[in-house]
Amino acid sequence: MQLPAFGEAGQARLRSARVLVAGCGALGTVVCEQLARAGVGTLTIIDRDVVERSNLQRQTLFTEVDAARGVPKAEAAKARLAQVNGEIIVRAFVDDLVSANALRYTRECDLLVDCLDNFETRYLLNDCAVAQGLPLVYGGAVGFRGMAAALLPITGADRGGAVSWNVGQSTPCLRCIAPDAPLPGEVETCESSGVLASAVGIAASIEAALALRLLAESPLILPARLVRFDLARLDFTSSSIAGARDEDCPCCAAHRFASLERQTGAGGEGNCRVLCGRNAVELRIAGALAEAELERIAVRLAAQGMVVRDRVGATTTLTVRFHGSAHDIRQFALDDVRSAPGTSEIPAELDGWSGSVALTVLAAERATFAIITGTTDPERARALFARVVGL
Ligand SMILES: [Zn+2]
Repeated sequence: MQLPAFGEAGQARLRSARVLVAGCGALGTVVCEQLARAGVGTLTIIDRDVVERSNLQRQTLFTEVDAARGVPKAEAAKARLAQVNGEIIVRAFVDDLVSANALRYTRECDLLVDCLDNFETRYLLNDCAVAQGLPLVYGGAVGFRGMAAALLPITGADRGGAVSWNVGQSTPCLRCIAPDAPLPGEVETCESSGVLASAVGIAASIEAALALRLLAESPLILPARLVRFDLARLDFTSSSIAGARDEDCPCCAAHRFASLERQTGAGGEGNCRVLCGRNAVELRIAGALAEAELERIAVRLAAQGMVVRDRVGATTTLTVRFHGSAHDIRQFALDDVRSAPGTSEIPAELDGWSGSVALTVLAAERATFAIITGTTDPERARALFARVVGL
């Protein structure tokens, strides 16, 4: 309240604000914590991943206990934020943002914050921002470098609302700045080149600062600039993006929302994701599962071995241990499977797998996922899932 551009009115605006944080990894945890501590009234967090030990270097809301339990990031973040600020509402969804649900998730929010790790979903979030005239805070970090910018689509100018800007303050959209998504493998990712926690922290802090200023300032005096930094060269720069809109942009000029219109129907490409660097495949199974169906799966899994059942927030996880192994399935070595007694229970689909083998069913409020560890072959993962779970 003592900050000149904020004041009591600004703090009140933060309290009534509804912010969507897309992705709750390294960027998302830092953004969520800062917005929660600042008193942003409603935070909606969407993330489909579970906490892993390797995340703890940079994902500041999570602990070793979360990693050991394999808690979904959205639920772990919600639980932690409830301890940080009990006066705000945190909505956690273990889900991925896809064309079928993106408008539903973004519609009820005043501001979107991009804490994602892939261009495909970034374009989808950008489509949602432009289609609905919502402000989008963009950010990214890899290695020692990072960047962030606030994007105010022209479609939302002069419309009032929680964040208010005029045509002159409109900025390019993400497609104006980066018209083509790089192909997988073309860009450095955190998986391929690592990331310094400080670089993520700085990028996320800039994102949080942009979000708080957009929400609290009235009138808006935030300059339209893209901030870049490199902690290897200790170089910080920013460049103006005012007036840099592409007049022929398919998204913010022609209103063609390619990512929103892309179908992600059942059985399609969008329902399977190879988790590179983790030797795992994730399958998006269906919408929410009924308790009875979950029970049926638990019984079926129990026939394969020991089932570990866990519940955090609105999400239940079922993890199977095969007969003959005392190890938790997360550390389940393939050699143990083969040499253990009762190996007749082990599915034939396990042949040709590598490292540890695991199967976890993640049943959340609006979506269900299976994470199959031990392969990067989607067909192999699907076969194991069909054999063991039978959905
Ligand atoms: Zn554009």
